[in-house]
Amino acid sequence: MSLAQVFTRAQCGVDAPLVRVEVHLSSGLPSLSLVGLPETAVKESKDRVRSALLNSGFDFPAKRITINLAPAELPKEGGRYDLAIALGILAASAQVPASALDQHEFIGELALSGQLQPVQGTLPVALMATQQQHRLVVPSANACEAALCPNVDVISASSLADVTAYLHGQQTLPQASPAAADSAPDLEVADLADVRGQQQAKRALEVAAAGQHNLLFIGPPGTGKTMLATRLPGILPPMSESEALQSASVQSLCGQSDWLQHWRQRPFRAPHHTASGVALVGGGMNPKPGEISLAHGGVLFLDELPEYSRKVLDVLREPLESGRIVISRARQSIEYPARFQLLAAMNPCPCGYFGDPNGRCRCTHEQVQRYQNQASGPLLDRIDLHVAVPPVALSQLQAQPSGESSAVVRQRVVAARERQQQRQGCTNGQLSSRQTEQVCQLNSSDHDWFSHTVEQLQLSARAYHRLLKIARTLADLAGSDAIQRAHLAEAIGYRALDRYLH
Ligand SMILES: [Zn+2]
Repeated sequence: MSLAQVFTRAQCGVDAPLVRVEVHLSSGLPSLSLVGLPETAVKESKDRVRSALLNSGFDFPAKRITINLAPAELPKEGGRYDLAIALGILAASAQVPASALDQHEFIGELALSGQLQPVQGTLPVALMATQQQHRLVVPSANACEAALCPNVDVISASSLADVTAYLHGQQTLPQASPAAADSAPDLEVADLADVRGQQQAKRALEVAAAGQHNLLFIGPPGTGKTMLATRLPGILPPMSESEALQSASVQSLCGQSDWLQHWRQRPFRAPHHTASGVALVGGGMNPKPGEISLAHGGVLFLDELPEYSRKVLDVLREPLESGRIVISRARQSIEYPARFQLLAAMNPCPCGYFGDPNGRCRCTHEQVQRYQNQASGPLLDRIDLHVAVPPVALSQLQAQPSGESSAVVRQRVVAARERQQQRQGCTNGQLSSRQTEQVCQLNSSDHDWFSHTVEQLQLSARAYHRLLKIARTLADLAGSDAIQRAHLAEAIGYRALDRYLH
């Protein structure tokens, strides 16, 4: 047979659409052409495939070789198609049985020696191949990652020769297994019990976790804002399998494997304020996911919020609403998931000590205003909870830690989330204004009291709805169907910045 076809997969965001590699040998001057609009990297694969075939002891056909990667409009970059192209040439020249390629998909880059090199994004490939009930062949280095997918049929090989021996029925290839990937998922998570003092801030973390509210800590340096922030993932509900796979699929596109040991843990990403817009939201020539997508299903922590460029913060508004980010390029738009919980921290002024009882702050009134205004605006509007984190007294720091562990707090969070799911099918943090009014009804005396208080504090209509949502979460944490006045009063306490800004 002089015509062969082999299946492989492209990478398109977290999708992995099927690509058909067609190889045709015809008589004429020996040549090799690749069609299907592949990019430079695919053209380079011609040279790698030729060397790999020769170094694995095969003949490189002295024919006119035409290779077509279909469909043509898909993005095709990187060496991920090498293995499929090499097998196509071998099948078309009858060096491997073409019928053995049926029901299989192949992915992997070839070294000149014929060894198989790992590629990025194997997990999305495995998820799609499983849906189609195809057996997937991957490089050995990608085996653990591909095997995270449930019910997957993945075998791994370390060289082209191994794959051809398998296709000839001369050798079996090892079935990939997820190693010890999901054992002891909680071991490394920082525990809330380690944080001394800061009762209000800890409570705010619990509320944020329970209602999926975004949260801002405001306080002088050295009060443990970062330490508190790193405790949030540990009190969030455990990820479901589909959530974990979605989050792992994004990590899989970045070509590092250190996430594999704790792939069931919610991610915690803390990009520095000097990070570029592309690093934060994703992009580049072949658009890569940014920090906000790597935080999908977990927490994005922005320390020293006013230090981030205003432009970068503005870009975060859309994914905060939609849970995804679309990166537009001339030829294609790539979409990445980006449903993260935002946690931010800031000093109250440039020196950090505004409001300090010992008068340590040396900033002028204008400096303080300018600093706070930098963080305010549309992004701040999307943060429900603003919480002051004051310095901790020395006696508390020296005391033995006595607070609750993350595991105990997490149980309450899980129970509160279940109440929300049953009542409205989403978390309180995700309620629209209209839904908020439906599920946050107050009795008339509480309503009057609340409206009056909000008016006195000169809060906006938006802030009014945010307070109601927080009060709803407080009621859920208490196991109460109705929002009570105590919940409303506590909620008002979580708007520290509104007070600062007056
Ligand atoms: Zn200051």
